[in-house]
Amino acid sequence: MPHVSNTVKHGGMPGILFSNKPLIFMKWQTSKVQISRSSYQNNIYFLRKLLGPNNKMSSVVKGNAYGHGIKTFVPLALECGIDHFSVFSVSEAYEVFQQTEEYKPTIMIMGMIEEEAMEWVIVNEIEFYVFDLDRLNSAIQTALAFKKKALVHLEVETGMNRTGLNEPEYLNALEIIERNRQAIDLKGVCTHFAGAESIANYLRIEHQKSKFLKMRELALNRKFKVDYFHSCCSAGAVRYPEMLHGFARIGIMQYGFWPSFETFIEYSSDEIDKTDPLSRIISWKSKIMDIKHVKRGQYIGYGSIYQAGSEMKIAIIPVGYGNGYSRSLSNIGRVLIGGVRTVITGKVNMNLISVDISHIPNVRKGDEVVLIGKQGEMEISVADFGDASKQINYELLTRLPQNLPREIVD
Ligand SMILES: *Cc1c(COP(=O)(O)O)cnc(C)c1O
Repeated sequence: MPHVSNTVKHGGMPGILFSNKPLIFMKWQTSKVQISRSSYQNNIYFLRKLLGPNNKMSSVVKGNAYGHGIKTFVPLALECGIDHFSVFSVSEAYEVFQQTEEYKPTIMIMGMIEEEAMEWVIVNEIEFYVFDLDRLNSAIQTALAFKKKALVHLEVETGMNRTGLNEPEYLNALEIIERNRQAIDLKGVCTHFAGAESIANYLRIEHQKSKFLKMRELALNRKFKVDYFHSCCSAGAVRYPEMLHGFARIGIMQYGFWPSFETFIEYSSDEIDKTDPLSRIISWKSKIMDIKHVKRGQYIGYGSIYQAGSEMKIAIIPVGYGNGYSRSLSNIGRVLIGGVRTVITGKVNMNLISVDISHIPNVRKGDEVVLIGKQGEMEISVADFGDASKQINYELLTRLPQNLPREIVD
């Protein structure tokens, strides 16, 4: 076996590597995500206006803050006055908790809690959904054992048929809570609509609304003091403001995306100014790795899905499906280079794409490439891809790898 010296193995750059390893490796990621403070401020301003002074907003940061990165996003949200965060799991709650220890915002878990984690959740006053009686009983046991109150939101089944207590279970849960006042604080009663962003679901949601109002009455009739009866996500807050009851769980819109194009049309039909009041806060950027000339008639990349129709110049960009850039964007995806919108040529590879730069003057190796976001006057929005690749906003965003460096910019 040939001997490989250290210097050769590390690309002839000893010393630099070893002095500050983690930082340098982070910098060497082939793309990065930027989060815009001013755009977030704009969205929060809009959402506060939309919700009005009497409705509190919880910032939903599940899915690593919809791909934006909890570690980067949560401090920004705090800075903009957010004091309530909703997550799916205990590990996400813990991440938010670590970012916010000084400020002690409310953290609410809407999904999974492992039995062993109940102690941490209750001791640290993390609020959580209860959607079955097992969890309610385990919460009571833990709360009693640690002399803390469990801060509970009862999730009720109204027609989504995901998680949630049906009516008899709910009544049962209310009774159990009544008997265990010293262990349980009933913070909320809640449900989730099955697709409030689409008019196609109108009837189903009307049914869910009346079911939820009935569940609300059942608690009120029994003289339960409940902080919030909450049911609205972003689309719910736009479409069914009468269902807000003081509280909304806002995910996608705070990041600057409409839950669906339909929701935007419906909102803007009542407005004189039809410009989009939301602003995307995420950009995803890379750099040109290589430039190549291709002769007319030749194929670009794997297989034969892209044939050069004339002499072409292409740029190679070190981002592919292994970096969260969906394969379904082969021949379809768009990027910005030099303020010009251009198209992916051929297949998305694991770590590479190539794009047409024949029509863009003065392009050089190392030039910035915008995969998502603005460059000059132009913008590539995730929704553009969404339409093209049949992936919705949520999916593309949440597939952005956790290990991409993320930074806040103005
Ligand atoms: C994800 C989620 C939300 C937020 O939905 P958006 O459409 O992103 O605003 C609200 N409530 C629950 C239960 C959720 O799972």
